[in-house]
Amino acid sequence: DIQFRQLEKWFGTLQALKPLSMTIQSGEFVSLVGPSGCGKTTLLRMIAGLEDPAAGPILFGGTPVFDSENHINKPPQKRKIGMVFQDFALWPHMTVFENVAYGLKATGRKREVKEKVTDALKSVQLDAHHERYPHQLSGGQQQRVAIARAIATDPEIILMDEPLSALDASLRDEMRILLQSLVKKLNMTAVYVTHDQSEAMAMSDRVVVMNAGEVQQTGTPEEIYQRPVNDTVASFIGKGT
Ligand code: ATP
Repeated sequence: DIQFRQLEKWFGTLQALKPLSMTIQSGEFVSLVGPSGCGKTTLLRMIAGLEDPAAGPILFGGTPVFDSENHINKPPQKRKIGMVFQDFALWPHMTVFENVAYGLKATGRKREVKEKVTDALKSVQLDAHHERYPHQLSGGQQQRVAIARAIATDPEIILMDEPLSALDASLRDEMRILLQSLVKKLNMTAVYVTHDQSEAMAMSDRVVVMNAGEVQQTGTPEEIYQRPVNDTVASFIGKGT
């Protein structure tokens, strides 16, 4: 699981995240939703180790990956995470194969790397395009490469920041299903940032609704929809009062 205790973040005088304590269970698919600037990406980046919290330990499976009091701050590559971004973030000068192999090169032998890359590309149904370059692929295919790269290292946690926002609506549904089934099949814990409430409601075990650096409500999609705790949550999920 992922645990935060009184996790907090400031940018100068702006409190981007007010003290937050919560546990995300192993294997759970949790979405962070809320209006622009509410702190979703900041929270995700702190889990990844790309941003240092001002306070509050972060624990993975009971072991701290960040704890300022004890001077613990594991770098992203030691956190067993995979990341998928809105803009795919592929290397333009590398082939599909090389992009997916990138994070594996340091660890495995050549044959193992080949196997892992091939498996990852198969699981996103992209086995035919190993030697292409990113610019020779559609947006949906590029995002599949980015997903393959994220899962190739067998992460326990996958962190996704608006992974489908750059795609056409028709592709988004297909990609939702692919992502959801991959996360379950590989038994990963998923944290998913989106501004699209219908996407969050459709994909998640639990939804965290944020506003201005503060968590408004955490619950299953049904709970959030049936019993929003306040007007902010109600209006965000399209049930304005
Ligand atoms: P969006 O949906 O627009 O991506 P978000 O909910 O992900 O928004 P964050 O990117 O987490 O929001 O930003 C939270 C707040 O922190 C915003 O007010 C933002 O301007 C501020 N912020 C984020 N990164 C920095 C930074 N590096 N320096 C200063 N302020 C920052």
